[in-house]
Amino acid sequence: MTSEHTAELAARAAEQHVVVIGGGIGGLVAARECAKVGMRVTLLEAADALGGSIRSAELDGVVVDTGAESFATRGGHVRALVDELGLSDAVVAPGGGGAWLHGIPDAPDAPLPVGGILGIPANPFQDDVRRIIGWRGAWRAYLDRLRPPLTIGHERSLGRLVASRMGARVRDRLVAPVTAGVYSAHPDDVDTDIAAPGLNAALTRVGSLTGAVAALRLEQQEKAAGRPGSAVLGLAGGMTRLVDALRTDLEKYDAEVRTGVRATGLTRDGKTWTVAIDGETDAAPEPLVATGVIVATAEPPARALLEEHVAGLGEPAPAPEIEIVTLLLAAPELDIAPRGSGVLTVPGSRAAKALTHSSAKWRWVREAAVGRHVVRVSFGTQGEPAATSSLDDDAAARLALDEASAMLGVALRPEQLVAAHRSRFVQAQPSSLIGASERRDAVRQAVQQVPGLAVVGAWVAGTGLAQVIPDAVAEGDRLRHALLWR
Ligand SMILES: Cc1cc2nc3c(=O)[nH]c(=O)nc-3n(C[C@H](O)[C@H](O)[C@H](O)COP(=O)(O)OP(=O)(O)OC[C@H]3O[C@@H](n4cnc5c(N)ncnc54)[C@H](O)[C@@H]3O)c2cc1C
Repeated sequence: MTSEHTAELAARAAEQHVVVIGGGIGGLVAARECAKVGMRVTLLEAADALGGSIRSAELDGVVVDTGAESFATRGGHVRALVDELGLSDAVVAPGGGGAWLHGIPDAPDAPLPVGGILGIPANPFQDDVRRIIGWRGAWRAYLDRLRPPLTIGHERSLGRLVASRMGARVRDRLVAPVTAGVYSAHPDDVDTDIAAPGLNAALTRVGSLTGAVAALRLEQQEKAAGRPGSAVLGLAGGMTRLVDALRTDLEKYDAEVRTGVRATGLTRDGKTWTVAIDGETDAAPEPLVATGVIVATAEPPARALLEEHVAGLGEPAPAPEIEIVTLLLAAPELDIAPRGSGVLTVPGSRAAKALTHSSAKWRWVREAAVGRHVVRVSFGTQGEPAATSSLDDDAAARLALDEASAMLGVALRPEQLVAAHRSRFVQAQPSSLIGASERRDAVRQAVQQVPGLAVVGAWVAGTGLAQVIPDAVAEGDRLRHALLWR
């Protein structure tokens, strides 16, 4: 490219004004893609703080993550961003041992078995598996080895696949706690081919589901050989450090970041967009005029902004409301980390869905808590409101304390509760649910028909930073390219 071309591109970039609506990780990353080539960027965030589902709270001086607390290392995209932003030294691996299972009918709590895939065991007679499903469940699961693989054909539903091959106990006691904890969903609604790629094919090849799990685990171990490390990592000091670093980076590129400002409407006139806003101190703030708009909110506000301009958005996906109650506890009984890094519950056995013993899992949290403990209790799953949703904050904290006592196997007294914090979220539909990827692709294609418009975030990328970040990079890049070359 000649220097005239470069100068022309720089001039074209400077003529663009991209407004990004939503300051969660998706919006921040997409905004950065546009700002770094010299486009004028304004990012609007309705809340007072950036980050969306990446949030923190202070409990008696201890600052901890109350939303996302880690990132998946698969794909390497999140780690690459962390490194680019100069946060490599803050990257930490979790510890604290494995998680436990609570609520097993007629059996004490037990560590989650090792060596399975999404809770499906490779060997139903393995001690840690049999302890959870009992002898009856183990023999029923063993039938999988004797049945011909093709009697059920290619099964898309993970729950139906597991139940038909290995019985209801494996589905309900081993798989359901994992899918509820990871996807807030019942195993029947989970798409086997997305949640466990290769499992159906291995089943046909090997002849049994347990054999398929063993074969896939072996493949995974071989792939991981020479790449030591954890499947998830965190940041010492909390995931909000990633948000802070993105803000600093955006400001370095002269992007304008406005918090406490909600986008209330979008209009288009040819190549020009107008974004109506509400908030800050101004009673009637000036609308923003833009050449490009990136909608980066959760699904309901995004649909409200998009529906007038985009045909074929389809039906909204159900989005579970979840709540996290974080407890700071003066409880030396927890020093031994009685349930490792946390607990998953057998669905239906308790009000809470899961618990993370954060000060056992993360060394930086343990150090920040100076002798006390941080425990996060999660409520709510697909199709079921969080048990805390109708409670006030004090009652929610009391319920979380009772749930933590039962799940940790330690009687925690109210006077041991130093501080509590409660956070509400609407979780986007995970990409592993049946039908989710078709729905997302349809939304993406429909939005891409509209010049100067893009949509990013978990409802179109799938939940989790490892999905949202690379998708926001790609979509920010697509929009900036389209604006420069139109
Ligand atoms: C409790 C919880 C724990 C999680 N833990 C993990 C984890 O450990 N690891 C992981 O990888 N993922 C985790 N996730 C998932 C991950 O956090 C999300 O997928 C991701 O952060 C979503 O980012 P986003 O940008 O799509 O949306 P959001 O984070 O929801 O951001 C959207 C933003 O848009 C703003 N907004 C909405 N409407 C408007 C408007 N009209 N105008 C302006 N702004 C608006 C909102 O205030 C919000 O800040 C977790 C999610 C939750 C809820």
